[in-house]
Amino acid sequence: MEKIRMTTPLVEMDGDEMTRVLWKKIKEILILPYVDLKTEYYDLGLPNRDATEDAVTVESALATKKYGVAVKCATITPNAQRMTEYNLHRMWKSPNGTIRRILDGTVFRAPILCKGIRPYVPTWESPIVLARHAYGDVYNNVEERVEKGEKAYLVVTDGEGREVRRQLVHDFAEGAGVVQGVHNCDDSIRSFAHSCFRYAVEQKIPMYFATKDTISKVYDRRFKDIFAEVYEQYRSNFEELGIEYLYTLIDDAVARIVRCKGGVLWACKNYDGDVMSDMVATAYGSLGMMSSVLVSPDGKYEYEAAHGTVTRHYYRYLKGEATSTNSVATIFAWTGALAKRGELDGNEALVAFARKLERATVSTIEEGEMTGDLVPLFSREGVTPKKLDSEEFLRAIAKRL
Ligand code: NAP
Ligand code: MG
Repeated sequence: MEKIRMTTPLVEMDGDEMTRVLWKKIKEILILPYVDLKTEYYDLGLPNRDATEDAVTVESALATKKYGVAVKCATITPNAQRMTEYNLHRMWKSPNGTIRRILDGTVFRAPILCKGIRPYVPTWESPIVLARHAYGDVYNNVEERVEKGEKAYLVVTDGEGREVRRQLVHDFAEGAGVVQGVHNCDDSIRSFAHSCFRYAVEQKIPMYFATKDTISKVYDRRFKDIFAEVYEQYRSNFEELGIEYLYTLIDDAVARIVRCKGGVLWACKNYDGDVMSDMVATAYGSLGMMSSVLVSPDGKYEYEAAHGTVTRHYYRYLKGEATSTNSVATIFAWTGALAKRGELDGNEALVAFARKLERATVSTIEEGEMTGDLVPLFSREGVTPKKLDSEEFLRAIAKRL
């Protein structure tokens, strides 16, 4: 066949370890034979981040701002052990954190569903997409241990440092304890709200947002009010599509999520999103089946897998052993990015190719050919699951594609 042409490049962010190995294979086996792939390539692998003093990460984020769509491979966030392993000059910050800060984006995570892989919650027939506000609250807090006899105050000063307001948090006369200060910013909450409403409208799915504003009458109330205000800009879109925006209390939201059929966007405050995204991901099955996209409030997109670089498999790969690493979430990062690029450029052939690759991937699993992580989760009448190695799985998809 003639290869599908692209008009605008994708921003391609390469990564580390096992996912870097899969990255190359996915392109070679599933994309390059069919698409005249145009990318602007950034190597975010740890050795190159170190060599460029992490400038490559910033450049790749700026390129995403310019072109609007990026696809990212999983990357190592260095810790002390990686410092020695890679002989690093510095303990570079998390690339995802850097990119998120530059794009001011929100991360949406959605499971990839296949017949035969049943979620632990049987009512969940469609994906529950979770959006986590990635700024403030307990993640940017200050906290102290307080001794018996001390008092803790919440003090607000003006720009010159003059005290304007003061409240007693607690008088520790009876004994020692702890105190914590948290904050959030209107702009960040507003960006988060825009990203969420925009995503719900694009995906044509209803949206829940919840806080605990009955208890937190100023702090959580501010989230509620900003969401209500931003919603007015999207109300007509929601009404036209016949989808609902529901604001409720967090405990009610949790109960509704468990009862629902899926097919909903759940926007969460930072801590709720941290905890609930792990619950939702686990309940759907494997980390290898969780996709992720960063959406900025002005509509820039960066697609990736939710999992990491699968280090344990990589060390086995280096020893020459066969690996059976699930590439589905990384394939869906590519298809998400190609489809979005196609949509923005009015390139229907590219969108259609992305959707076909997704269907080929899902049907490979549904017909019983899968990587090792899925085998114990799989149960479908008349189909015996067969474990394939990393490359065999990609070739099984290519056959269907
Ligand atoms: P991980 O790479 O997600 O892997 C944790 C374990 O989950 C694996 O050992 C494997 O279990 C299973 N797993 C995850 N993805 C899988 C897949 N695609 N196929 C099959 N099994 C899969 O997390 P990690 O080991 O904690 O982190 C490794 C590195 O990734 C770290 O350096 C971390 O900084 C980085 N990381 C990057 C990102 C990102 O770029 N977005 C996100 C998270 C972590 P078994 O070994 O039992 O098979
Ligand atoms: Mg968590």
